[in-house]
Amino acid sequence: MSDFPTQLLINGQWLDGSGAKRLAIVNPATEETFAEVSSATADEIGQAAEAGQAAFESGWRDMPPGERTRLLRNLAKRIHENVETLAQLETRNVGKPIGDARWEADAGAKVFDYYAGAIGHLCGQTIPVARGGFDFTLRQPMGVIAAITPWNFPFLIACWKVAPALAAGNSVVLKPASLTPLTALMLGQLAQEAGLPDGVLQVVPGSGSEAGNALATHPLVRKIGFTGSTEVGATIMKLAADDIKRVSLELGGKSPNIVFADADWQRAAAESPMSVFANTGQDCCARSRMFIEQSVFDGFVDQFVAATESLKIGNPMDEATQVGPMVSAPQRELSESYIAGARDAGREIRTGGDRPNGGGFYLNPAVVTGVETEDRAWREEIFGPVVCLRPFTDETEMLREVNDTNFGLSGSVWSNDLSRALRVARQVESGVISINSHSSVHTEAPFGGFKRSGLGRDLGMSAMEACTEVKNIYVGE
Ligand code: NAP
Ligand code: MG
Repeated sequence: MSDFPTQLLINGQWLDGSGAKRLAIVNPATEETFAEVSSATADEIGQAAEAGQAAFESGWRDMPPGERTRLLRNLAKRIHENVETLAQLETRNVGKPIGDARWEADAGAKVFDYYAGAIGHLCGQTIPVARGGFDFTLRQPMGVIAAITPWNFPFLIACWKVAPALAAGNSVVLKPASLTPLTALMLGQLAQEAGLPDGVLQVVPGSGSEAGNALATHPLVRKIGFTGSTEVGATIMKLAADDIKRVSLELGGKSPNIVFADADWQRAAAESPMSVFANTGQDCCARSRMFIEQSVFDGFVDQFVAATESLKIGNPMDEATQVGPMVSAPQRELSESYIAGARDAGREIRTGGDRPNGGGFYLNPAVVTGVETEDRAWREEIFGPVVCLRPFTDETEMLREVNDTNFGLSGSVWSNDLSRALRVARQVESGVISINSHSSVHTEAPFGGFKRSGLGRDLGMSAMEACTEVKNIYVGE
Protein backbone atom coordinates (compact mmCIF):
# COMPACT_ATOMS: atom_id res chain seq x y z
CA MET A 1 0.00 0.00 0.00
CA SER A 2 1.27 3.42 -0.88
CA ASP A 3 0.61 6.39 1.37
CA PHE A 4 -1.09 8.24 -1.49
CA PRO A 5 -4.26 7.38 -3.41
CA THR A 6 -3.93 5.19 -6.54
CA GLN A 7 -7.57 4.26 -7.17
CA LEU A 8 -10.42 6.02 -8.95
CA LEU A 9 -12.51 8.47 -6.92
CA ILE A 10 -16.11 7.99 -8.04
CA ASN A 11 -19.07 9.28 -6.03
CA GLY A 12 -17.05 9.50 -2.82
CA GLN A 13 -15.73 5.91 -3.10
CA TRP A 14 -12.19 4.81 -3.89
CA LEU A 15 -12.51 2.03 -6.49
CA ASP A 16 -10.02 -0.23 -8.13
CA GLY A 17 -11.35 0.28 -11.62
CA SER A 18 -12.06 -2.58 -13.94
CA GLY A 19 -9.59 -1.48 -16.65
CA ALA A 20 -7.10 -4.31 -17.14
CA LYS A 21 -4.29 -1.90 -17.92
CA ARG A 22 -2.97 -0.05 -14.89
CA LEU A 23 -0.94 3.14 -15.28
CA ALA A 24 2.76 2.73 -14.44
CA ILE A 25 4.06 5.73 -12.52
CA VAL A 26 7.73 6.41 -13.21
CA ASN A 27 10.25 8.66 -11.46
CA PRO A 28 11.96 10.53 -14.35
CA ALA A 29 15.08 11.18 -12.25
CA THR A 30 15.73 7.47 -11.65
CA GLU A 31 13.65 5.77 -14.39
CA GLU A 32 12.10 3.55 -11.68
CA THR A 33 8.41 2.62 -11.58
CA PHE A 34 7.26 3.43 -8.05
CA ALA A 35 3.46 3.06 -8.22
CA GLU A 36 0.58 1.78 -10.30
CA VAL A 37 -2.70 3.60 -10.69
CA SER A 38 -6.14 2.32 -11.70
CA SER A 39 -7.29 3.20 -15.17
CA ALA A 40 -10.95 4.08 -15.79
CA THR A 41 -12.97 2.36 -18.50
CA ALA A 42 -15.71 4.08 -20.52
CA ASP A 43 -18.27 2.42 -18.17
CA GLU A 44 -16.64 3.97 -15.13
CA ILE A 45 -16.55 7.37 -16.83
CA GLY A 46 -20.31 6.93 -17.36
CA GLN A 47 -20.79 6.18 -13.65
CA ALA A 48 -18.82 9.29 -12.74
CA ALA A 49 -20.84 11.47 -15.11
CA GLU A 50 -24.10 10.18 -13.61
CA ALA A 51 -22.89 10.65 -10.04
CA GLY A 52 -21.71 14.15 -10.95
CA GLN A 53 -25.15 15.00 -12.32
CA ALA A 54 -26.84 13.59 -9.20
CA ALA A 55 -24.54 15.60 -6.91
CA PHE A 56 -25.22 18.72 -8.96
CA GLU A 57 -28.99 18.33 -8.80
CA SER A 58 -29.26 17.13 -5.22
CA GLY A 59 -27.61 20.04 -3.47
CA TRP A 60 -24.45 21.53 -4.93
CA ARG A 61 -26.25 23.65 -7.55
CA ASP A 62 -28.64 25.12 -4.99
CA MET A 63 -26.27 25.44 -2.05
CA PRO A 64 -26.20 28.98 -0.60
CA PRO A 65 -23.12 30.75 -2.04
CA GLY A 66 -21.70 31.40 1.41
CA GLU A 67 -21.71 27.68 2.16
CA ARG A 68 -19.89 26.91 -1.09
CA THR A 69 -17.35 29.62 -0.20
CA ARG A 70 -16.79 27.97 3.17
CA LEU A 71 -16.16 24.54 1.63
CA LEU A 72 -13.74 25.84 -1.01
CA ARG A 73 -11.86 27.80 1.67
CA ASN A 74 -11.60 24.55 3.64
CA LEU A 75 -10.13 22.88 0.58
CA ALA A 76 -7.63 25.73 0.10
CA LYS A 77 -6.60 25.25 3.72
CA ARG A 78 -6.21 21.47 3.35
CA ILE A 79 -4.03 22.01 0.25
CA HIS A 80 -1.97 24.58 2.12
CA GLU A 81 -1.43 22.16 5.02
CA ASN A 82 -0.32 19.47 2.55
CA VAL A 83 2.02 21.52 0.34
CA GLU A 84 5.05 19.45 1.29
CA THR A 85 3.35 16.10 0.61
CA LEU A 86 1.97 17.33 -2.70
CA ALA A 87 5.34 18.78 -3.72
CA GLN A 88 7.26 15.59 -2.88
CA LEU A 89 4.78 13.54 -4.89
CA GLU A 90 4.85 15.92 -7.87
CA THR A 91 8.65 16.03 -7.96
CA ARG A 92 8.86 12.25 -7.80
CA ASN A 93 6.35 11.86 -10.63
CA VAL A 94 7.27 14.77 -12.96
CA GLY A 95 10.95 15.37 -12.14
CA LYS A 96 10.43 19.08 -11.50
CA PRO A 97 12.67 20.78 -8.90
CA ILE A 98 11.25 20.50 -5.39
CA GLY A 99 11.26 24.29 -4.91
CA ASP A 100 9.11 24.73 -8.02
CA ALA A 101 6.79 21.91 -6.92
CA ARG A 102 6.29 23.61 -3.52
CA TRP A 103 5.52 26.90 -5.21
CA GLU A 104 2.99 25.23 -7.53
CA ALA A 105 1.21 23.37 -4.71
CA ASP A 106 0.96 26.59 -2.72
CA ALA A 107 -0.27 28.43 -5.85
CA GLY A 108 -2.98 25.76 -6.18
CA ALA A 109 -4.20 26.58 -2.66
CA LYS A 110 -4.29 30.27 -3.61
CA VAL A 111 -6.39 29.47 -6.69
CA PHE A 112 -9.03 27.84 -4.46
CA ASP A 113 -8.87 30.79 -2.07
CA TYR A 114 -9.37 33.23 -4.94
CA TYR A 115 -12.41 31.41 -6.34
CA ALA A 116 -13.88 30.89 -2.85
CA GLY A 117 -13.87 34.70 -2.58
CA ALA A 118 -15.02 35.17 -6.18
CA ILE A 119 -18.31 33.36 -5.45
CA GLY A 120 -19.65 36.54 -3.84
CA HIS A 121 -18.61 38.65 -6.83
CA LEU A 122 -20.11 36.76 -9.76
CA CYS A 123 -22.98 39.08 -10.63
CA GLY A 124 -25.69 39.37 -13.24
CA GLN A 125 -26.90 42.69 -14.66
CA THR A 126 -30.07 44.73 -14.64
CA ILE A 127 -30.77 45.98 -18.16
CA PRO A 128 -32.91 48.99 -19.15
CA VAL A 129 -34.82 47.31 -22.02
CA ALA A 130 -36.78 49.45 -24.50
CA ARG A 131 -40.28 48.28 -23.60
CA GLY A 132 -39.99 49.04 -19.92
CA GLY A 133 -40.65 46.41 -17.30
CA PHE A 134 -37.74 44.85 -15.48
CA ASP A 135 -34.96 42.85 -17.14
CA PHE A 136 -32.08 41.11 -15.44
CA THR A 137 -29.57 38.30 -15.99
CA LEU A 138 -28.59 35.33 -13.88
CA ARG A 139 -25.34 33.40 -14.20
CA GLN A 140 -26.28 29.79 -13.68
CA PRO A 141 -24.07 26.70 -13.39
CA MET A 142 -24.06 24.26 -16.30
CA GLY A 143 -24.02 20.81 -14.66
CA VAL A 144 -21.16 18.35 -15.03
CA ILE A 145 -17.90 19.84 -16.31
CA ALA A 146 -15.06 17.61 -17.54
CA ALA A 147 -11.50 18.69 -16.79
CA ILE A 148 -8.78 17.04 -18.89
CA THR A 149 -5.26 18.01 -17.88
CA PRO A 150 -1.62 17.55 -19.03
CA TRP A 151 1.52 16.25 -17.32
CA ASN A 152 3.67 19.38 -17.16
CA PHE A 153 1.96 21.19 -14.24
CA PRO A 154 -0.38 18.40 -13.09
CA PHE A 155 -1.52 19.83 -9.76
CA LEU A 156 -1.65 23.52 -10.59
CA ILE A 157 -3.51 23.12 -13.89
CA ALA A 158 -5.99 20.76 -12.19
CA CYS A 159 -6.66 23.55 -9.67
CA TRP A 160 -7.09 26.10 -12.50
CA LYS A 161 -9.79 23.93 -14.08
CA VAL A 162 -11.54 22.59 -10.98
CA ALA A 163 -11.74 25.67 -8.72
CA PRO A 164 -13.73 28.08 -10.98
CA ALA A 165 -16.03 25.26 -12.13
CA LEU A 166 -16.90 24.26 -8.54
CA ALA A 167 -17.14 27.88 -7.41
CA ALA A 168 -19.74 28.55 -10.12
CA GLY A 169 -21.80 25.61 -8.79
CA ASN A 170 -20.91 22.84 -11.25
CA SER A 171 -19.70 19.35 -10.43
CA VAL A 172 -16.39 18.24 -11.97
CA VAL A 173 -14.99 14.99 -13.35
CA LEU A 174 -11.21 15.38 -13.56
CA LYS A 175 -9.12 13.17 -15.87
CA PRO A 176 -5.41 13.78 -15.29
CA ALA A 177 -2.65 12.84 -17.75
CA SER A 178 -1.75 9.14 -17.69
CA LEU A 179 1.87 9.89 -16.85
CA THR A 180 1.06 12.05 -13.81
CA PRO A 181 -2.22 11.29 -12.01
CA LEU A 182 -0.97 11.30 -8.38
CA THR A 183 -1.52 14.88 -7.24
CA ALA A 184 -4.92 15.04 -8.96
CA LEU A 185 -5.97 12.00 -6.91
CA MET A 186 -4.66 13.71 -3.81
CA LEU A 187 -6.73 16.79 -4.68
CA GLY A 188 -9.76 14.48 -4.68
CA GLN A 189 -8.79 13.14 -1.27
CA LEU A 190 -8.28 16.63 0.17
CA ALA A 191 -11.67 17.71 -1.23
CA GLN A 192 -13.29 14.81 0.65
CA GLU A 193 -11.49 15.82 3.84
CA ALA A 194 -12.62 19.43 3.32
CA GLY A 195 -16.25 18.27 3.35
CA LEU A 196 -17.20 18.55 -0.33
CA PRO A 197 -20.25 16.34 -0.91
CA ASP A 198 -19.73 13.01 -2.69
CA GLY A 199 -19.75 13.30 -6.48
CA VAL A 200 -18.97 17.02 -6.57
CA LEU A 201 -15.32 16.41 -7.49
CA GLN A 202 -14.44 13.01 -8.95
CA VAL A 203 -11.01 11.97 -10.23
CA VAL A 204 -10.71 9.32 -12.93
CA PRO A 205 -7.23 8.59 -14.30
CA GLY A 206 -7.20 6.66 -17.55
CA SER A 207 -5.99 6.79 -21.11
CA GLY A 208 -6.88 9.70 -23.35
CA SER A 209 -8.18 7.36 -26.02
CA GLU A 210 -10.61 5.53 -23.71
CA ALA A 211 -11.33 7.55 -20.54
CA GLY A 212 -10.70 10.97 -22.13
CA ASN A 213 -12.76 10.16 -25.19
CA ALA A 214 -15.64 8.74 -23.11
CA LEU A 215 -15.67 11.85 -20.94
CA ALA A 216 -15.56 14.26 -23.86
CA THR A 217 -18.51 12.54 -25.54
CA HIS A 218 -20.71 11.73 -22.52
CA PRO A 219 -24.15 13.32 -22.97
CA LEU A 220 -24.30 14.55 -19.35
CA VAL A 221 -21.05 16.51 -19.72
CA ARG A 222 -21.94 20.10 -20.55
CA LYS A 223 -18.47 21.57 -20.87
CA ILE A 224 -14.91 20.33 -21.42
CA GLY A 225 -12.07 22.33 -19.92
CA PHE A 226 -8.90 21.07 -21.59
CA THR A 227 -5.20 21.87 -21.35
CA GLY A 228 -2.81 19.99 -23.59
CA SER A 229 -1.52 19.79 -27.13
CA THR A 230 -3.06 21.65 -30.04
CA GLU A 231 -3.61 18.32 -31.81
CA VAL A 232 -5.69 16.78 -29.00
CA GLY A 233 -7.41 20.14 -28.43
CA ALA A 234 -8.67 20.02 -32.02
CA THR A 235 -9.91 16.45 -31.43
CA ILE A 236 -11.78 17.58 -28.30
CA MET A 237 -13.44 20.39 -30.26
CA LYS A 238 -14.62 17.90 -32.89
CA LEU A 239 -15.88 15.47 -30.22
CA ALA A 240 -17.80 18.33 -28.58
CA ALA A 241 -19.43 19.47 -31.81
CA ASP A 242 -22.37 17.05 -32.06
CA ASP A 243 -23.78 17.99 -28.64
CA ILE A 244 -22.66 21.66 -28.90
CA LYS A 245 -20.76 21.13 -25.65
CA ARG A 246 -18.91 24.17 -24.42
CA VAL A 247 -15.14 23.93 -24.63
CA SER A 248 -12.24 25.91 -23.28
CA LEU A 249 -8.86 24.95 -24.66
CA GLU A 250 -5.41 25.94 -23.44
CA LEU A 251 -3.00 24.57 -26.03
CA GLY A 252 0.55 24.84 -27.30
CA GLY A 253 2.80 27.82 -27.81
CA LYS A 254 5.96 29.11 -29.48
CA SER A 255 6.29 32.33 -27.61
CA PRO A 256 8.63 35.21 -28.52
CA ASN A 257 11.08 36.97 -26.24
CA ILE A 258 11.91 40.35 -27.82
CA VAL A 259 14.92 42.30 -26.54
CA PHE A 260 15.63 45.86 -27.72
CA ALA A 261 19.08 47.41 -27.39
CA ASP A 262 17.66 50.18 -25.18
CA ALA A 263 16.55 47.63 -22.57
CA ASP A 264 18.50 46.51 -19.55
CA TRP A 265 19.58 43.70 -21.86
CA GLN A 266 22.17 42.33 -19.43
CA ARG A 267 19.33 41.69 -17.00
CA ALA A 268 17.26 40.17 -19.81
CA ALA A 269 20.19 37.88 -20.69
CA ALA A 270 20.54 36.81 -17.07
CA GLU A 271 16.82 36.15 -16.54
CA SER A 272 15.78 34.77 -19.92
CA PRO A 273 17.27 31.25 -19.69
CA MET A 274 14.66 30.36 -17.04
CA SER A 275 11.89 31.80 -19.25
CA VAL A 276 12.44 28.80 -21.51
CA PHE A 277 14.33 26.20 -19.45
CA ALA A 278 12.13 26.28 -16.33
CA ASN A 279 10.28 22.97 -15.99
CA THR A 280 12.95 21.68 -18.42
CA GLY A 281 11.28 23.60 -21.25
CA GLN A 282 8.03 21.66 -20.79
CA ASP A 283 6.00 24.81 -20.43
CA CYS A 284 3.36 26.10 -22.82
CA CYS A 285 4.58 29.66 -22.10
CA ALA A 286 8.26 28.84 -22.81
CA ARG A 287 9.88 31.79 -24.62
CA SER A 288 11.52 29.53 -27.19
CA ARG A 289 11.94 32.09 -30.02
CA MET A 290 14.21 34.98 -29.12
CA PHE A 291 14.45 38.19 -31.15
CA ILE A 292 17.51 40.24 -30.15
CA GLU A 293 18.29 43.68 -31.63
CA GLN A 294 21.36 43.29 -33.86
CA SER A 295 23.55 45.90 -32.14
CA VAL A 296 23.60 43.90 -28.88
CA PHE A 297 23.17 40.40 -30.36
CA ASP A 298 26.72 39.06 -29.87
CA GLY A 299 27.07 40.37 -26.33
CA PHE A 300 23.58 39.14 -25.45
CA VAL A 301 24.25 35.63 -26.77
CA ASP A 302 27.52 35.39 -24.79
CA GLN A 303 25.79 36.40 -21.56
CA PHE A 304 22.74 34.21 -22.25
CA VAL A 305 24.99 31.18 -22.86
CA ALA A 306 26.98 31.90 -19.69
CA ALA A 307 23.75 32.20 -17.67
CA THR A 308 22.50 28.92 -19.18
CA GLU A 309 25.75 27.14 -18.33
CA SER A 310 25.49 28.31 -14.73
CA LEU A 311 22.05 26.74 -14.23
CA LYS A 312 22.07 23.96 -11.68
CA ILE A 313 20.87 20.82 -13.46
CA GLY A 314 20.39 17.61 -11.51
CA ASN A 315 18.45 15.71 -8.87
CA PRO A 316 15.11 17.48 -8.55
CA MET A 317 14.91 16.59 -4.85
CA ASP A 318 18.04 18.72 -4.27
CA GLU A 319 16.98 22.14 -2.96
CA ALA A 320 19.45 24.00 -5.22
CA THR A 321 18.38 22.33 -8.48
CA GLN A 322 16.88 24.66 -11.10
CA VAL A 323 16.44 22.19 -13.99
CA GLY A 324 15.45 18.55 -13.49
CA PRO A 325 15.01 15.69 -15.97
CA MET A 326 12.37 15.65 -18.68
CA VAL A 327 9.15 13.78 -17.93
CA SER A 328 9.80 10.71 -20.08
CA ALA A 329 12.20 9.04 -22.51
CA PRO A 330 10.02 9.76 -25.59
CA GLN A 331 9.72 13.43 -24.63
CA ARG A 332 13.52 13.68 -24.43
CA GLU A 333 13.96 11.90 -27.78
CA LEU A 334 11.57 14.36 -29.38
CA SER A 335 13.66 17.32 -28.19
CA GLU A 336 16.84 15.57 -29.33
CA SER A 337 15.37 15.15 -32.82
CA TYR A 338 15.01 18.94 -33.13
CA ILE A 339 18.58 19.46 -31.92
CA ALA A 340 19.89 16.87 -34.41
CA GLY A 341 17.89 18.54 -37.21
CA ALA A 342 19.41 21.93 -36.38
CA ARG A 343 22.91 20.46 -36.23
CA ASP A 344 22.45 18.65 -39.57
CA ALA A 345 21.31 21.91 -41.17
CA GLY A 346 24.55 23.56 -40.01
CA ARG A 347 22.99 25.66 -37.24
CA GLU A 348 25.19 26.48 -34.28
CA ILE A 349 24.50 24.70 -30.96
CA ARG A 350 26.19 27.20 -28.63
CA THR A 351 25.82 25.01 -25.56
CA GLY A 352 23.98 21.89 -24.36
CA GLY A 353 21.81 19.49 -26.30
CA ASP A 354 23.69 16.50 -24.91
CA ARG A 355 22.82 14.10 -22.09
CA PRO A 356 24.71 14.33 -18.81
CA ASN A 357 26.23 11.06 -17.56
CA GLY A 358 24.09 8.71 -15.48
CA GLY A 359 20.44 7.69 -15.43
CA GLY A 360 17.28 9.76 -15.59
CA PHE A 361 15.73 11.54 -18.56
CA TYR A 362 18.11 14.50 -18.37
CA LEU A 363 18.99 16.75 -21.30
CA ASN A 364 21.32 19.73 -21.02
CA PRO A 365 19.57 22.96 -22.12
CA ALA A 366 20.41 23.76 -25.75
CA VAL A 367 21.01 27.27 -27.15
CA VAL A 368 20.83 27.46 -30.95
CA THR A 369 21.83 30.38 -33.23
CA GLY A 370 22.04 30.78 -37.00
CA VAL A 371 18.51 29.41 -37.48
CA GLU A 372 16.35 30.34 -40.46
CA THR A 373 12.65 31.11 -40.15
CA GLU A 374 11.71 27.93 -42.07
CA ASP A 375 13.59 25.67 -39.60
CA ARG A 376 11.41 23.19 -37.68
CA ALA A 377 13.18 24.17 -34.47
CA TRP A 378 12.08 27.78 -35.06
CA ARG A 379 8.51 27.03 -36.14
CA GLU A 380 7.32 24.04 -34.07
CA GLU A 381 6.64 23.74 -30.38
CA ILE A 382 9.47 21.56 -29.02
CA PHE A 383 8.25 21.33 -25.40
CA GLY A 384 11.78 20.69 -24.18
CA PRO A 385 14.93 22.63 -23.22
CA VAL A 386 15.76 24.14 -26.61
CA VAL A 387 15.85 27.85 -27.50
CA CYS A 388 16.62 29.58 -30.81
CA LEU A 389 17.99 33.15 -30.97
CA ARG A 390 17.85 35.41 -34.03
CA PRO A 391 18.98 39.03 -34.47
CA PHE A 392 16.68 41.75 -35.86
CA THR A 393 17.24 45.27 -37.16
CA ASP A 394 13.82 46.60 -38.15
CA GLU A 395 10.87 46.65 -35.71
CA THR A 396 8.18 46.15 -38.38
CA GLU A 397 9.96 43.22 -40.01
CA MET A 398 10.64 41.69 -36.57
CA LEU A 399 6.93 41.91 -35.68
CA ARG A 400 6.02 40.25 -38.97
CA GLU A 401 8.30 37.32 -38.04
CA VAL A 402 6.97 37.26 -34.46
CA ASN A 403 3.41 36.84 -35.75
CA ASP A 404 4.36 34.41 -38.53
CA THR A 405 3.23 31.41 -36.47
CA ASN A 406 0.02 29.50 -35.83
CA PHE A 407 0.54 29.89 -32.08
CA GLY A 408 -0.22 32.92 -29.90
CA LEU A 409 0.01 32.17 -26.20
CA SER A 410 2.59 34.28 -24.39
CA GLY A 411 5.72 36.40 -24.81
CA SER A 412 7.97 39.12 -23.42
CA VAL A 413 9.18 42.52 -24.58
CA TRP A 414 12.26 44.14 -23.07
CA SER A 415 12.68 47.89 -23.64
CA ASN A 416 13.14 51.00 -21.49
CA ASP A 417 11.22 53.05 -24.05
CA LEU A 418 7.71 52.67 -22.66
CA SER A 419 5.88 53.77 -25.79
CA ARG A 420 7.86 51.32 -27.89
CA ALA A 421 7.27 48.49 -25.40
CA LEU A 422 3.51 49.16 -25.37
CA ARG A 423 3.36 49.56 -29.17
CA VAL A 424 5.06 46.19 -29.65
CA ALA A 425 3.04 44.48 -26.90
CA ARG A 426 -0.19 45.57 -28.62
CA GLN A 427 0.94 44.16 -31.95
CA VAL A 428 2.12 40.73 -30.81
CA GLU A 429 -0.69 38.24 -31.53
CA SER A 430 -0.86 36.49 -28.17
CA GLY A 431 -3.26 36.20 -25.26
CA VAL A 432 -0.66 37.15 -22.67
CA ILE A 433 2.46 39.32 -22.83
CA SER A 434 4.84 40.75 -20.24
CA ILE A 435 7.06 43.85 -20.40
CA ASN A 436 10.48 43.80 -18.71
CA SER A 437 9.42 40.61 -16.94
CA HIS A 438 8.75 36.98 -17.76
CA SER A 439 5.83 36.73 -15.37
CA SER A 440 2.75 36.09 -17.46
CA VAL A 441 0.46 34.03 -15.27
CA HIS A 442 -1.54 35.59 -12.43
CA THR A 443 -4.42 33.91 -10.59
CA GLU A 444 -6.51 37.08 -10.83
CA ALA A 445 -5.93 37.76 -14.55
CA PRO A 446 -7.10 35.95 -17.71
CA PHE A 447 -4.69 33.42 -19.24
CA GLY A 448 -5.04 31.81 -22.66
CA GLY A 449 -4.17 31.96 -26.31
CA PHE A 450 -4.87 33.51 -29.70
CA LYS A 451 -4.99 31.37 -32.85
CA ARG A 452 -4.09 27.68 -32.35
CA SER A 453 -2.95 28.31 -28.79
CA GLY A 454 -6.50 27.98 -27.56
CA LEU A 455 -10.03 29.14 -27.01
CA GLY A 456 -11.36 30.81 -23.87
CA ARG A 457 -9.40 31.86 -20.81
CA ASP A 458 -8.29 30.21 -17.59
CA LEU A 459 -7.96 32.13 -14.31
CA GLY A 460 -9.50 35.42 -13.20
CA MET A 461 -13.23 36.05 -13.38
CA SER A 462 -13.14 35.06 -17.07
CA ALA A 463 -12.72 31.39 -16.17
CA MET A 464 -15.58 31.42 -13.68
CA GLU A 465 -17.94 33.24 -16.09
CA ALA A 466 -17.08 30.61 -18.72
CA CYS A 467 -18.35 27.91 -16.33
CA THR A 468 -21.84 29.46 -16.34
CA GLU A 469 -24.72 30.03 -18.73
CA VAL A 470 -26.30 33.49 -18.88
CA LYS A 471 -30.06 33.53 -18.42
CA ASN A 472 -32.07 36.66 -19.20
CA ILE A 473 -35.32 37.16 -17.27
CA TYR A 474 -37.90 39.77 -18.17
CA VAL A 475 -40.66 40.82 -15.81
CA GLY A 476 -43.58 42.58 -17.50
CA GLU A 477 -45.13 45.75 -16.06
P1 NAP B 1 -1.89 15.92 -24.64
O1 NAP B 1 -1.25 14.76 -25.24
O2 NAP B 1 -2.70 16.80 -25.50
O3 NAP B 1 -2.76 15.38 -23.41
C1 NAP B 1 -3.51 16.23 -22.57
C2 NAP B 1 -4.61 15.42 -21.91
O4 NAP B 1 -5.54 14.97 -22.92
C3 NAP B 1 -4.13 14.16 -21.21
O5 NAP B 1 -4.91 13.96 -20.05
C4 NAP B 1 -4.42 13.10 -22.25
O6 NAP B 1 -4.51 11.79 -21.72
C5 NAP B 1 -5.73 13.58 -22.81
N1 NAP B 1 -6.10 13.02 -24.12
C6 NAP B 1 -5.27 12.54 -25.08
N2 NAP B 1 -5.99 12.13 -26.15
C7 NAP B 1 -7.30 12.35 -25.86
C8 NAP B 1 -8.54 12.14 -26.55
N3 NAP B 1 -8.57 11.61 -27.77
N4 NAP B 1 -9.70 12.49 -25.94
C9 NAP B 1 -9.68 13.05 -24.72
N5 NAP B 1 -8.55 13.26 -24.00
C10 NAP B 1 -7.36 12.93 -24.56
O7 NAP B 1 -0.85 16.90 -23.95
P2 NAP B 1 0.36 16.49 -23.01
O8 NAP B 1 1.24 15.61 -23.82
O9 NAP B 1 -0.15 16.00 -21.72
O10 NAP B 1 0.97 17.94 -22.72
C11 NAP B 1 1.80 18.61 -23.61
C12 NAP B 1 1.07 19.68 -24.40
O11 NAP B 1 0.22 20.47 -23.57
C13 NAP B 1 1.98 20.68 -25.06
O12 NAP B 1 1.65 20.81 -26.42
C14 NAP B 1 1.73 21.98 -24.34
O13 NAP B 1 1.94 23.13 -25.07
C15 NAP B 1 0.35 21.86 -23.89
N6 NAP B 1 0.09 22.66 -22.69
C16 NAP B 1 -0.60 23.82 -22.81
C17 NAP B 1 -0.85 24.61 -21.70
C18 NAP B 1 -1.63 25.88 -21.80
O14 NAP B 1 -2.08 26.39 -20.79
N7 NAP B 1 -1.84 26.44 -22.96
C19 NAP B 1 -0.39 24.20 -20.46
C20 NAP B 1 0.30 23.00 -20.37
C21 NAP B 1 0.53 22.24 -21.50
P3 NAP B 1 -3.21 10.82 -21.74
O15 NAP B 1 -2.28 11.39 -20.77
O16 NAP B 1 -3.75 9.50 -21.36
O17 NAP B 1 -2.67 10.86 -23.15
MG1 MG C 1 0.62 13.77 -25.00
